[in-house]
Amino acid sequence: MARPSPLDIYSLLDRSNCGDCGYATCMAFATDLLERKVTLEDCTHLMQQPKQAKNLAKLREITTPPQKPVIIGVGERACICGGEEVLMRHQLTYYNETAIFMEIADDNPDLEEIIKYLTDLKLERMGDVLRINGIALRCVSGDLDQFKLAAKKISEITDLPIMLCCIMNPEILLAGATEIKDKKPLLYGATKDSWEQVGTFAVQNNLPIVAVSSDLDELISLSATLQKLGAKEIVLDPGTFFGPGKLAFTYDNILQLRNAAIDKEDPNAGWPVMGVPAAYWVQMDTSQGDLWTHQYQEVIMGALMESIDTSLIVLHTGKKKDDIWALLALMTLRQSVFSDPRIYPTADPGLIQIGEPGDMAPIFVTSNYRLTKIPVEIDIKGANLDSWLLVVNSEGIGIESAVAGGQFNATSIAEAVQEFKAFDKVKHRILIIPGMAARLSGALEDEADAVVLVGPRDSSGIKKFYDTRWDPEKDMKEYAER
Ligand code: SF4
Repeated sequence: MARPSPLDIYSLLDRSNCGDCGYATCMAFATDLLERKVTLEDCTHLMQQPKQAKNLAKLREITTPPQKPVIIGVGERACICGGEEVLMRHQLTYYNETAIFMEIADDNPDLEEIIKYLTDLKLERMGDVLRINGIALRCVSGDLDQFKLAAKKISEITDLPIMLCCIMNPEILLAGATEIKDKKPLLYGATKDSWEQVGTFAVQNNLPIVAVSSDLDELISLSATLQKLGAKEIVLDPGTFFGPGKLAFTYDNILQLRNAAIDKEDPNAGWPVMGVPAAYWVQMDTSQGDLWTHQYQEVIMGALMESIDTSLIVLHTGKKKDDIWALLALMTLRQSVFSDPRIYPTADPGLIQIGEPGDMAPIFVTSNYRLTKIPVEIDIKGANLDSWLLVVNSEGIGIESAVAGGQFNATSIAEAVQEFKAFDKVKHRILIIPGMAARLSGALEDEADAVVLVGPRDSSGIKKFYDTRWDPEKDMKEYAER
C-alpha cells in the first residue's frame, strides 16, 4: 500500500479545526500523525464520536505500517520496536531504533546490582542520550519459584521493559508472566509445541509474544496461528546462529522476513524481527581462548543485526562496567544507523557561555552543524577555557562544506555577532574562526569590524592555539592602529 499523504489523512478527520488536540488545524495534526508525533487517540473527535467510527477504522488501516509496531513495557520507558515502512533508511527513514535488551540469568547472585546499573546507564553522545531498552530474564535455574522471584524483583527495581525467556518450559514462563503481567512483559516464546498454551495466555492478558522458529515457513505459520488465536502483538525470532555458513543463514532469514513484511506486505511477516547475539555463549565453546575474543564475536553479530534494521537484539556482554565498550560500540553505531536522513543534525544558533568568561575571554566561532558544534564545545570545556562560543546558522552544514556552499560566510558570521551581541560581552573585538574557514578572514574583518584570528582546523587544537596565540592586548593595539 502506498504511503498516505497528509491530505489522505485530513480527508478522514473531522476537519472542524477544533484545536482539542493542541493543533490549530486538522491539517497540521494530519501532517504530524504521518510523522508519528501524535496518535489517532489524540483526536478527541475521532475517539468520542460514534459517527467517526468508520473513518477511524480507515485511518487505522492506512496509518498502520506494513511491519506493525510492538510495545513492550509500560510507562515512560516502554519500548516500541519494529513499525518500519521501508527496507532501506534512505527510502524515507527508520522510526524505531534496534531495541537493546540485556540478558540476565534468574540465578545470577548479582542480579539486583546489575539491574540497577543497567537501569541508570546513560551515555551522552552528540547531544543524544543513549540507553539500553530492556532486560531479558532467562530461566537458567529451571525452577519455577526462582524464575517468579527474579521476575518480581526485576520489576520492582527497574522501569525498563522486561522480556521473560523460558522456551523449554511454558509453565515456568507463564508463572513469571503472571507475576508481572501489569508491566506488559514480552513472552519468549511460542514454538510449534507451545503456541496454544503461551498464545492463549498472551491473548488473555494482552501481552506481546515472540514466535520462534528457524524454519521461515513454520515461523510464518506460527504467526498466522497466533493471530487467529487473537494475538495483537507478535515479534518474530528466526534464530541466531554462529559458526561457518550460519552467519549468512541468520542474516538471510532476517532480511527475508523484512522483505516479506515491507515489500510484499505479508501480514504474517509484518511484525518486528529479533535476534539473539547472546546465543554465542550457548552455541560456541567459550572455555578456550580469551574472554574478549568471544565477547567481540557477539558484539559483531549485534552490529550486523543493527545494520540491517533488526528490531530487537538480546545481548550477554555489556552488563558489567568493564564491558561498557560493547554497549558504547553498539549504541554509537545504532545512533548513526537510525538518524533521520531527512533532517540535518542542527544545533540552535546563539552565543554559548563556557565557564566564567572575563572581559578579555576569547570568542570562538563555529557552525550550527550539530556534529561540529558539540565536539567544539566539548573540546573548549575539556581545555578549561572560560570563553564564548558563537554558533552561526550554517543551515546545519559542517564548516568545510558550508564555506564552499556559502552558508557559512562573512556576512552570516557578522550578522550573528550583532544578533547575539557577542562584542557586548567582552572588551575586545576579536573573533577566532575555524581553520577550515580561513579564507573568510579578510571579508569578515571588514563586515564585523573585528580582528579575525584563524584557529586550528580541528577543535582538538584549540588549547594549543590558545596557549600560543591568544594575546588580546596585542591584537587590540594593532586594531587601534589600523
Ligand atoms: S482534535 Fe481532531 S478535529 Fe480537533 S483539530 Fe485536532 S485533529 Fe482536528
